[in-house]
Amino acid sequence: MTDEPLHIVGGGLAGSEAAWQAAAAGARVVLHEMRPVRGTDAHQTDRLAELVCSNSFRADDWEANAVGLLHAEMRALGSLILRCADAHQTPAGGALAVDREGFAEAVTRAIAAHPRIRIERGEVAGAPPADWTSVIVATGPLTSPALAAAIGALTGEAELSFFDAIAPIVHAESIDMGVAWRQSRYDKEGPGGDAAAYINCPMDKAEYDAFIDALLAGPKTEFKDWEHVPYFDGCLPIEVMAERGRETLRHGPMKPVGLTNPHDPTRKAHAVVQLRQDNALGTLWNMVGFQTKLKHGAQSEIFRTIPGLEKAVFARLGGLHRNTFLNSPRLLDAQLRLKADPRLRFAGQITGVEGYVESAAIGLVAGRLAAAERRGERLAAPPATTAMGALVGHITGGHLAAGAGSFQPMNINYGLLPPMDEAPRGEDGRRLGKRDRVRARKRAIAERALADLTAWAKAPELV
Ligand SMILES: Cc1cc2nc3c(=O)[nH]c(=O)nc-3n(C[C@H](O)[C@H](O)[C@H](O)COP(=O)(O)OP(=O)(O)OC[C@H]3O[C@@H](n4cnc5c(N)ncnc54)[C@H](O)[C@@H]3O)c2cc1C
Repeated sequence: MTDEPLHIVGGGLAGSEAAWQAAAAGARVVLHEMRPVRGTDAHQTDRLAELVCSNSFRADDWEANAVGLLHAEMRALGSLILRCADAHQTPAGGALAVDREGFAEAVTRAIAAHPRIRIERGEVAGAPPADWTSVIVATGPLTSPALAAAIGALTGEAELSFFDAIAPIVHAESIDMGVAWRQSRYDKEGPGGDAAAYINCPMDKAEYDAFIDALLAGPKTEFKDWEHVPYFDGCLPIEVMAERGRETLRHGPMKPVGLTNPHDPTRKAHAVVQLRQDNALGTLWNMVGFQTKLKHGAQSEIFRTIPGLEKAVFARLGGLHRNTFLNSPRLLDAQLRLKADPRLRFAGQITGVEGYVESAAIGLVAGRLAAAERRGERLAAPPATTAMGALVGHITGGHLAAGAGSFQPMNINYGLLPPMDEAPRGEDGRRLGKRDRVRARKRAIAERALADLTAWAKAPELV
């Protein structure tokens, strides 16, 4: 192990976890946190791992919920964030919620007390110095402008976003293909040679009119003062388009031209909602052009009025936020390193994952990979069958690029994990009913993930 330190920039959820994991694996770490010398628009304290908004780490059920599985995997790997969350739980039913002050204080104390970690307070206000031979950048959605500019110069400005414009994503299996159909506009073949690249959901005039009314009336999320999210013409929220005119969507993302409904070829749709494949597994489909500021409850309700999506299960709902993140599938290698400057590794929300737990999980992986590198080894990321590996896979290649801005932040969800080869059956070998089948499938995915993670942790694959 070289004695040169690993420099971690940003002491949030990801940076704190990365520091802990790397130090536990024997590396010397310098953790650079700019607060309280310089603040962000959302953080209020000088504590590490401060939760800027909700105090919830979401569902804690490893058998039935993808984020619960991520909790279980992180606990199995000695996560500091999960350990402190467990120690500072507040009652929240099936969710893992924490006393935010106790939680952040516990993380700060643990890091400060670690003999191999030194905390340096102050902004890294430009590209990390050349003599920092191994760096993890974990500066989060509110990365300071000076560092963001330096990253933009390294990556090319177009590859670093300052706002997300998120369209909902639907699990493929929940789309009713008895109503929807596969076809590209004018049967045009894409670069992949597929003339049926889209899933199309048709609307008649009455359905379209009701949909526009619901969009206009639906409750919207307000921007915070400092967010100042600009609307770009290419990614206007659908409700803003509807406000500009009732026909705008029908001439924009919902135009019905070049499509023939094979279920009823003689009837021309008045409008069509298109979904585009979002991941290489083909399990997730993105509602094209449907970025929105509608509140989440309203989105589920209104989008389930779209024919074919009545039973849609959403892997992600839409949103627009201030958020600094990389076009990771293009920029990062499977080691989470910047291809253009491999001494820089990235972790947390800036890699294009979304959420406290996901950010910390990527920090955990980055910390372990960086520590292995200091030992002169190249560790493979956790297998794609684990929730952690699925997240790493998604941000470093699993997402299917479809033009500028197609890569948007993502929470963990089952659609990122490879499906099981066989549908689970009852103890007597019989086919299960739908509810039991879904439950058994999630449990089987979770058992596979935890078994594969344990094997990876015991005998990590070297690449
Ligand atoms: C306003 C807002 C609300 C959110 N609410 C939620 C929520 O309720 N639930 C949820 O799951 N997720 C939420 N998120 C998303 C995200 O999960 C969190 O922001 C999460 O904290 C990201 O973890 P991180 O470690 O990547 O970044 P952070 O936790 O933000 O940590 C980054 C750290 O880097 C420091 N830093 C930045 N630039 C520099 C620099 N140049 N030099 C040194 N230090 C620097 C910052 O001070 C900060 O401490 C929210 C995001 C925002 C912006």
